[in-house]
Amino acid sequence: MSNFSSLIAHDEYVRMGNVRDNETPSEWMDRIWPRLQYFRKNDLLPTENKKYLEARKLVLVLTLGIYAPAIRLAICFSCDQLIYTGERTANIGNYNHIGMERHWKFSCSG
Ligand SMILES: [Zn+2]
Repeated sequence: MSNFSSLIAHDEYVRMGNVRDNETPSEWMDRIWPRLQYFRKNDLLPTENKKYLEARKLVLVLTLGIYAPAIRLAICFSCDQLIYTGERTANIGNYNHIGMERHWKFSCSG
């Protein structure tokens, strides 16, 4: 894959994590699912993000412009379930969420 198309793919992937205002997490998951499967099948996932996709919600903060904080949900690529990730904790398991680490250890069926 050329650098250009991998940039485009990365950009789309980042936007895939954005949950719309009127969407529930499961509606979000349904909406992006076909594209997510396509990305996984064609190995288009960014290297740093091959194990789960984090959900974000766009929030307008007047002083900062738009940003997209995580809403503490992610899709686990092993079991394809929506997982509550909890707080992001640096220095644990390679910057993964502690909730994801716990999920993989105790409840992941993948
Ligand atoms: Zn899982």
